[in-house]
Amino acid sequence: MNQGVRPSSAGGAIDLRGVTKLYGGLRVVDDISLSIRPGEFFSLLGPSGSGKTTTLMMVAGFADVDRGAVDVDGVDVADLPPQKRGFGMVFQNYAIFPHLNVFENVAFPLRARHRPEPEIREKVNRALDLVQLGSFASRFARQLSGGQQQRVAIARAIVFEPRLVLMDEPLGALDKNLRYDMQVEIKEIQRRLGMTVVYVTHDQEEAMNMSDRIAILNRGRVEQVGAPAEVYERPQNAFVARFLGEANLLAGTVSAQAADCAVLRVGEHSFRARLAAPIETGQPASLFVRPERVLLEAEAGTDEAWNHVGGEVRRASFLGNIVRYLVQVGPSLAMRIDAQNAGPAPFAVGARVFLKWAVADSLLLVE
Ligand code: ADP
Repeated sequence: MNQGVRPSSAGGAIDLRGVTKLYGGLRVVDDISLSIRPGEFFSLLGPSGSGKTTTLMMVAGFADVDRGAVDVDGVDVADLPPQKRGFGMVFQNYAIFPHLNVFENVAFPLRARHRPEPEIREKVNRALDLVQLGSFASRFARQLSGGQQQRVAIARAIVFEPRLVLMDEPLGALDKNLRYDMQVEIKEIQRRLGMTVVYVTHDQEEAMNMSDRIAILNRGRVEQVGAPAEVYERPQNAFVARFLGEANLLAGTVSAQAADCAVLRVGEHSFRARLAAPIETGQPASLFVRPERVLLEAEAGTDEAWNHVGGEVRRASFLGNIVRYLVQVGPSLAMRIDAQNAGPAPFAVGARVFLKWAVADSLLLVE
């Protein structure tokens, strides 16, 4: 652990209690309640306009809370202006000062706090080492790449050892490979320093890669909160299922049920699925299964623990690491299957194939 830069006090727990924001009568954040634990990497994930930034701005203090409250370590922060909240912040557009060199950019929060010169030198150098910019201290913004500028912004956000760092799409302007490297780097810094991070992104892979838990937002409301694997594998509704990746959602009607399993009638087919929530027989619902959980075979299967259906390959798209198939399994029913590219594509367009997927991988969801 780096001894020079670490949160000055334990803590960084955030409680949003029924937080609501109205713009022109519209509830852009609508009664959000969340508890974020100290040291947690917590992402707000959702489509554009779902209220992520507004929620973060209310935590930061740049937007007023119209209803509800934000508590940090058990204290309502409503009356504290942003600079008094003591949070680190990183935004998409770097926002590093062009007229200051890297050292002075990072030193800025310490100078604003009137820290003594030796402390500033020590802390800035340690923060720069942490973001791997130790040898860039005298450079100016124009002499840095986008990724390096973003590292300066991160160093500046952590140099004063905040218990809480808020990040709003900090990697939005970077290209894909650099984004991934920076995700790993930010996560590593957060882990080493033990600070709480609230991270806004619309990129589901980024959220899954970095977060301890994710809140999926839609139209100002929280659809689901959970660990990445949990929300991906066990979405609570069709919105979450679609938003987190490719999803097969076969629409039908519940025709029978047992303890935690139901039968869904989909056209001429019957499939079995686990229940995400209690459901009535006769109710419309969709069977959810991820494309990578469906297997394609040349022969019909019979295993009781699996759903089975035959079909015809309509499309086989070569995507490098996977082959994505679209298979017609009924007059108006097609399924997506992602097969690992472990050799040449074995099924051609027009081929007769058999699909199977485990009942355990199938969930019944309501729209
Ligand atoms: P996200 O970060 O998920 O893209 P935002 O929180 O930025 O969403 O915005 C949520 C909604 O609130 C959007 O419809 C946006 O247009 C609206 N909004 C955000 N800020 C303002 C503002 N200052 N005035 C009016 N409407 C706003």
